[in-house]
Amino acid sequence: KLVILGSINSDHILNVTHFPLPGETVSGNHFQTVFGGKGANQAVAAGRCGANISFLACLGNDDIGRKAKTQLMTDNIDINNIELIEEEATGVALIFVDKKAENIIGIHSGANGRLDTQYVERHASIIKNADSLLMQLESPLDSVLKAAKIAKQERVQVILNPAPAQELSDELLALIDIITPNETEIEYLTGIKVTDDNEAQKAANCLHHKGINIVLITLGSRGVWVSQYGEEGFLVPAFSVNAVDTIAAGDTFNGAFITALLEDKPIVHAIKFAHAAAAIAVTRVGAQPSIPWRHEVDTFLSN
Ligand code: ADP
Repeated sequence: KLVILGSINSDHILNVTHFPLPGETVSGNHFQTVFGGKGANQAVAAGRCGANISFLACLGNDDIGRKAKTQLMTDNIDINNIELIEEEATGVALIFVDKKAENIIGIHSGANGRLDTQYVERHASIIKNADSLLMQLESPLDSVLKAAKIAKQERVQVILNPAPAQELSDELLALIDIITPNETEIEYLTGIKVTDDNEAQKAANCLHHKGINIVLITLGSRGVWVSQYGEEGFLVPAFSVNAVDTIAAGDTFNGAFITALLEDKPIVHAIKFAHAAAAIAVTRVGAQPSIPWRHEVDTFLSN
């Protein structure tokens, strides 16, 4: 059983030809509201890939919050532990996307901020009974630490996708079994800019020395540098596809990877499965709408 603890946002995406400067107003050429948030995206990826997953998260008790909860249920996710918070609005991300597909994002954490240590205590038994716990950094850090401690005590595998990028305490890093930073995040964590395989291994070693057994550095279209403590690391190349939008690529990778790992697939197979899921996601626009279902990943892999 998989438990994901993390954020849910309502993403308001405005496509513009150029970003507005301070004081400027620009007209958008396309607008859409979709469900996002790293926690939710990863939960959706796991759910659609067939994991047995419970999602620990907080929503506002508002229209969007209630809709998000129903939507997550249709994605094969156990939503029983998602709390609807009376006094808070559902988390919001305001996203501008320009014609080069670059983005500028502002986030209001809203109800996500109520995923506090008391919430984690209320749902401790779910964590204790899991095989794996997957988290990201869009939730309060002390909650991430608390959940990792509970998991570790019960020998539940702890996976951290350290996004968005920030520095982390040695105390938290020591509780993690598998970490999945991208190039920006690994630089925050280690101070090492990953420009080639040598630097990738150096950065991975840095995290091994903090107590992390497996380090997966995601390198976009290049693939993933995988390093296990005490062994020589290597690259697992990504699939070559026509990418139109890399939103949620990392989230899809994480949700699919842990799903495959929980099916006892060897790590390289789990990475290839996750590469396939993420490759499909980058050929489609948006966050959750772009995340594939299991049969789509299996078809992709059999071609
Ligand atoms: P993030 O989205 O968190 O920055 P990456 O950009 O490293 O993460 O991408 C995560 C994963 O998504 C990669 O390991 C790969 O599987 C897939 N991916 C990302 N960009 C591409 C691409 N252009 N072509 C194929 N796969 C991609």
